[in-house]
This record gives sequence, C-alpha cells and structure tokens, in this order.
Amino acid sequence: MRFGELADAYARLESTKKRLEMRAILVELLRPLRPPELSRVLYLSQGMLRPEYEGVELGVADSLARKAVALATHTKDTEVARQTKSTGDLGTTVGQLLEEQHRLESDEPLTVAHVYGELERIAVAKGEGSQDVKVQVLTTLLGRATPVEAKFLVRFVLGTLRVGVRELTILDALTEVYAEGSKAGRTRIEAAFNLSSDLGLVAAALVEGGVEALEKIGLEVGRPIRPMLAEREPSLEAVLERMHGKAAVEYKYDGLRVQAHIARDRSVRLFSRRLEETSAQFPELVADLPHAVRSLPAIVEGEVVPIDLETDEIQPFQEVSRRRGRKHDLQKAQEEIPVCVFLFDVLLAGGEPVYEKDLAERRALLESILRPTERVRLATQRTVTTAEEALAFLDEAVAAGGEGLMAKSVAPGSGYRAGARGYWWIKYKRDYTVGLTDSIDGVVVGAFQGRGRRAGKFGAFLLAVYDPKRDRFESFCKVGSGFDDAALAEMPKRLHPFLTAEKPPEVDTSAAPDQWLRPGLVLEVRGAELTLSPVHPAGLGAVRAGVGLALRFPRFTGRIREEKGPTDATTSLELVHMYRSQVRQASEEKPETVGESG
Ligand code: ATP
Repeated sequence: MRFGELADAYARLESTKKRLEMRAILVELLRPLRPPELSRVLYLSQGMLRPEYEGVELGVADSLARKAVALATHTKDTEVARQTKSTGDLGTTVGQLLEEQHRLESDEPLTVAHVYGELERIAVAKGEGSQDVKVQVLTTLLGRATPVEAKFLVRFVLGTLRVGVRELTILDALTEVYAEGSKAGRTRIEAAFNLSSDLGLVAAALVEGGVEALEKIGLEVGRPIRPMLAEREPSLEAVLERMHGKAAVEYKYDGLRVQAHIARDRSVRLFSRRLEETSAQFPELVADLPHAVRSLPAIVEGEVVPIDLETDEIQPFQEVSRRRGRKHDLQKAQEEIPVCVFLFDVLLAGGEPVYEKDLAERRALLESILRPTERVRLATQRTVTTAEEALAFLDEAVAAGGEGLMAKSVAPGSGYRAGARGYWWIKYKRDYTVGLTDSIDGVVVGAFQGRGRRAGKFGAFLLAVYDPKRDRFESFCKVGSGFDDAALAEMPKRLHPFLTAEKPPEVDTSAAPDQWLRPGLVLEVRGAELTLSPVHPAGLGAVRAGVGLALRFPRFTGRIREEKGPTDATTSLELVHMYRSQVRQASEEKPETVGESG
C-alpha cells in the first residue's frame, strides 16, 4: 500500500467527527489489507508503532523534528519555527512549505511498509549519535513525501497525530469487514481485544480465519489483559441488592493497580491500570513476587500501597505517587517509601487460564498458590449477606487504611470480565473525606514491638482519649509514623515509669499491644481524618451503636505534651465533636455525594 493512500484516509478522517462516517472510511481502508500491513496500519492510525503496552516511543523532540523539516524543505530553522508559531503545528507548516515548493509525488512513492520500517529505525536509535540518526532518517523520509504525507508523518513522530481513530471505532470497522457487522461478532472481537490488548493481533487472526480464529487468542504472560472495572452504588443496601443478598467484600486499598505477569523463568513484568509497564518503579515487588506466588507461570492482580514496614501500617497513597519518575533515586525511594502489594485476583496459574472461573474459585486458588511475604500480601476479604455486616466491614477497612470497600459478586458467572465495567464489582468509598485540621493529644496506653530497623525497640504506640464522665481511657489509634530515631530512642525511658504487666483497668480497647502502659505520657498527633472504628472504643456509641472512632493515618507531631497529665488529654466528647464537624463540612461541600466519591 502506498503511504499516500493512508495519508489521504487520515485527511478524510480528520475532516469528520461523525462515528459512522469514520467507520466507513476505516472499512474502506482496512478491507483490502493483509497482515503484517493490516496490523501496522492499525497501530499507525492510533499514533503507535506497536500495541500500547509495549511502550515503544520514537523519542523525537520538537527541535529534532523541526531540524528535519528545515533540512528537507531547504528552509532556515528559524523560519520553520516562525511559521509554526502562526500555524500552531509543525505538521501543517511542513505541508504548507512543500505546497509552496510544488512538491509532487516522486517516481518512487513511499509505501506503508517502507515508512513503518524507517519509523522503527527512529524508535530503536538509542544513545550516542542517535539524534543524528533520527534527524537523518526523518529528513530522508520527508524528502520523498508529498505535502499531505509530510504533514501526517511529522504529526506521527511528534505524537500529535489525532485523526480520532479510537479503539471502539476500529473494533466497529473490523466487525463490519470480518463479521458482517453482527452483534455477536462484535462481542467476540471485543473480547479478544480485551484479553490481548493488541488490535493488530486481533486483526491478523480475523484475516486468517474470521471470528472463529479468535478462539486461539488466549492469555499470554507478558501481554496485559485489559482490567475488569467496577460500578458504583450510592448505598450498601443497594450494593447488597445488586448482588442478590450475598457478596464477597474486600478492603479497597488506595494505591496503584498492578497486573503482575510472572514467567516460568521467574522474570516479572508489572502493568498499570492503563497497561503501561511499571516494573522499573517497583523492583522490590519484581524480586518478591516469584517467591510469593507458586504455580508459575502466573498472572495476578493487586493494589500497590505504601506501607510502614516497621509498624505494618498502610500509608497515604500520595507517598507512592512520589515514586513516579524517580528512576535515578529509586534506591532511596525504596527505602523511604516502602510498598507492598495486596493481591485480589488470579487470571492465570501454572500456565492455565483461570479468569473464567467464578470468583470464589479464583480466590481459593489465589490463597492456595500464595505464600505471603512482607511485600506480597493477600487482600482482606469476607462474605457478607446484610448491609450491617458490610458496614462493619467498611469501618474495619477504613480503620486499616483502606478508602472503602469493593463488593464482588459470588454468583454463577462471576468470572473475570476483562475490559468491562459492570455490577459484578461495585466500589463503595466512604461518604466523606475531609481533612482534620486539629491535632489531638493522646495518652500512651500500650506499645508495640518494632520490626525491621526498629526491631528490639518499641515501633508504635497505642493512644487513648479521656472520658471524664466515666473516668476511662479509650483508645483511638496506633501511631508509628512521625518518630525520628532520636524520638524513638527516648520513648522507653519516658515510658518506663508506666510499664505494667496487665491491661490497666481504666483502659478500654480491643487492640492487643505487646506492652501495656498505665496512662501517663501524652503525645500530640495529627491525622487525615476521624473514621468509625470497630477496634477503637473512643466515644463508643456516640455516632453509631457499638462503634467508636479512630484517627486515620495518625502521625506524631514530635511534641510530647509534658505539661499535660493523662486527664488533660483530648476528651472523647471533643473527639466526637471533631468527627461531627468533619461530617458537616463534608455534607456542606458536597451534599449529593454520599458514597459517590472518586
Ligand atoms: P476505575 O478504575 O473504576 O475507572 P478509578 O480509577 O477512579 O476508577 P477507583 O474508583 O479508585 O478507581 O476504583 C477502582 C480501583 O480500586 C481498581 O482499579 C483498583 O486499582 C482499586 N482496588 C483497590 N482494592 C481493590 C480490590 N480489593 N479489588 C479490586 N480493585 C481494588
């Protein structure tokens, strides 16, 4: 195929916004093509050389492309820059320059195969001298291009080719060409794409044997599956109703989704929700996953969250996002912001695809093949049959650092639906998220042994508020963050006077610290927000029967309230007021969004 035909099709696609017209243009373009040309045209039309997940980039900066345009059109670089300022697009500029020069199609017109090959050369050019290679290859291509070809070539290399060909339109066109536009055909074509994330592969199979040949496209380690997505419901009652009265609920961890592909040779590739490879970002997971997951090759899914390995507390998500783009500092980032992954699904195990099995079966399999490590853990899951049970689980999830719950259908047919958003999974986040501005003065009533670098020392502390009416101390958080080495080293000395072998009778908590302490030392802490808690009894029953309050993501401010005795600490009632004002603020800000955040 001549490249000019493709460029003409782009020009026509660009001039319409109507999906039906676009489909017709695509159908005409694709019908006569055969692999590998067909796959290449599909990738090119989406502005890529290979399926998106392979992350192939051309590495052509504006200045480099401008240089090639200047050379190919014998125009000064500054002049090209000046014209581009007014056209707003280097592609348009090169088209105009060549028009003015009356550039015609050469005797040897460009072909798609040749252009694709040359673009591949640009993509693989790396390191010293690569810039010169890129300029030279692009200049030669532009030297042979017609104005319209040059326009789209330049846009392609700059990543600004926007002819509006989305995946859905391509799927429509392929259905038209290879399945007579039938609905059933469309479903199967889309399913094959969702499993392979590769339109070129799907198209090649269609040419080979029509829709039937798609059966051959299965899961392959190293090729990401488009993720299953969740719907929303405004209340837990509605969630349960959708699930016909029974659901598996899981903590909804607030981090980054990963799909881990672990090959038989123990090599690991991680992909994000958008199918970008993220392996380089999480070397510690790449190292741990092959040990934690038996039965290779395997494909598992989970959520990566930052975790304090010394206290085992999940940290706010912002911490993990700080790791992005820190390639050079990765070692440091790994130490500063350790992460772990909570696995919630398995799609391939021992080389066998299991994604079609019902959720309960997949979960049982995941549990059986997983040998959890510090870095690779299992997502907490429970089966519930009432909204009350779901609510209790939600409180627990949030208290553990989650942002809500994920309800998953356990009905027959609850297989993994690649690339689909539906009510088989329903996300339910907490109904408000408002920051807590006040600090809280908490009394230390227990201590936990540290781990890792904090081994042999106390690593975290159980804090309580005071209820003067009942004269009792009620726990509201376990805090491990915010202590530097010096502060931590000081704690045993500070706490020594209060050590006691038994739980002090005036303390209420269902937490189980390694060391009990009589209420004495008061610490100032801050946190993200107050949440309902089944573990901590602070203000028990004031908001909801049988449930207390907890501070989410607590952090020691560094200030020991020397001037305060235990009964001068923040009171339970103050805590309840803080919680209420938080809820009020939230409902004033977004009155209609109960359960709809995110
Ligand atoms: P979506 O991914 O649904 O388009 P979004 O990007 O805003 O929306 P969320 O609303 O946070 O994401 O909810 C879905 C995400 O929750 C999943 O993609 C996954 O990353 C994350 N998640 C956390 N815990 C779980 C779990 N136990 N099961 C499934 N997904 C989970």
